[in-house]
Amino acid sequence: MNKEYFMRVALDLAFKAQELGEVPVGAVVVRDDEIIGRGYNHSIIAMDPTAHAEVVALRDAAQNLGNYRLLDCTLFVTLEPCVMCIGALFHARIKRLVYAAADPKTGVCGSLLNLPAETRLNHHLEVIGGVLATEAGSLLRQFFISKRNSGKALLL
Ligand SMILES: [Zn+2]
Repeated sequence: MNKEYFMRVALDLAFKAQELGEVPVGAVVVRDDEIIGRGYNHSIIAMDPTAHAEVVALRDAAQNLGNYRLLDCTLFVTLEPCVMCIGALFHARIKRLVYAAADPKTGVCGSLLNLPAETRLNHHLEVIGGVLATEAGSLLRQFFISKRNSGKALLL
């Protein structure tokens, strides 16, 4: 599996979020080297606090497969998941998570907490971080710099 290729597709989705004025995060669900779900963050426009890229991509994949359990699937996301999204990944039985940039504020895959490593949770999720982290990190940084410079309050 070419991790960089799928992360680039997730980055393209993050750019879509940015165009809409949303925090630029994108995600794809992959099974057998095929993309079966796509999502990008659009919580503000959807007025939906759960519309994070990961949750949107999981929903898309589950609809395409006709099954809420996404067995043998890998989720690629441009930012380390938050507590809500890692919970959704557990419920979907995602096998492997690949993320780009670490998130020291809300990331729970090693930054703030490490929930995939929590042995009291009955779930096993392989985690690979840092794939195209520089690209994803600079996209997020540029986004927050432009928001600050435009003087608009970010609805987070
Ligand atoms: Zn999230």
